[in-house]
Amino acid sequence: MIGNSEIIKSKNKFVGKKDLMLIAGPCAIESFDQLYEVASHIKNLGGEYLRAGAFKPRTSPYSFQGLGKEGLEILKKVATLLDMKTVTEVTSEKNLELVAEYCDIIQIGARNMQNFELLKSVGEIKMPVILKRGMGNTIKEWLLAAEYILSQGNYDVILCERGIKTFETATRNTLDISSVPVVKDLSLLPVIVDPSHACGNKKYVEALALASVAAGANGIMVEVHPNAGKAKSDAQQQIGLPEYARLVEKIKAIRNIIT
Ligand code: PEP
Ligand code: MN
Repeated sequence: MIGNSEIIKSKNKFVGKKDLMLIAGPCAIESFDQLYEVASHIKNLGGEYLRAGAFKPRTSPYSFQGLGKEGLEILKKVATLLDMKTVTEVTSEKNLELVAEYCDIIQIGARNMQNFELLKSVGEIKMPVILKRGMGNTIKEWLLAAEYILSQGNYDVILCERGIKTFETATRNTLDISSVPVVKDLSLLPVIVDPSHACGNKKYVEALALASVAAGANGIMVEVHPNAGKAKSDAQQQIGLPEYARLVEKIKAIRNIIT
């Protein structure tokens, strides 16, 4: 591990060799009640990291774009009440300062993996960053994108595999599970997997998450919603609270076998 921040350094809590980072939460912050309900469930299952988007990069400009600053305020309030750490996406340099003020870990989404100015700006603020792999990018391009952050002196970078575009249409993307061992071979950075965006279907999330843990991922980031059918974004891929509880149990069982 080459990061300096407490989050990266505290191996017992985070992504050390034996420990697994479990990040969970809804795709988007929709209301205080929605976020509090899912976050308290995650916390009760031992989860420390809450993910939720306030600025949503949607394919259509007419889809729900996120609650913006109001969403960040809700995120901070919920995390403070439950003593959790938060992950949220920054979509532009315009909102970087604001996002950085409200969260513990900044997420750069797949669509911004090669937004080099944003990467450099995130490199300048010394906060942990999750850098998602672009859906059309090679591992080499992904590692070079990470270098943009590292080269500015911010070493607290976590890579996140989230599936890539292939000719396959049965799933939203194709999880490139081989990127986990390849990245571990080529880089010292921790690598986590987001099975939700990889498959786009709640039926397959558990299988992909378990495969990722078995492949040696340092963590999992999964979308969980208290009432997924009514979610304002990514309704098909968010798992419910009982499914998340079952997933956590199975992840623990796999970890016990492989470590
Ligand atoms: C997300 O995690 O909310 C997200 C938009 O993911 P991605 O950038 O991988 O599509
Ligand atoms: Mn999503």
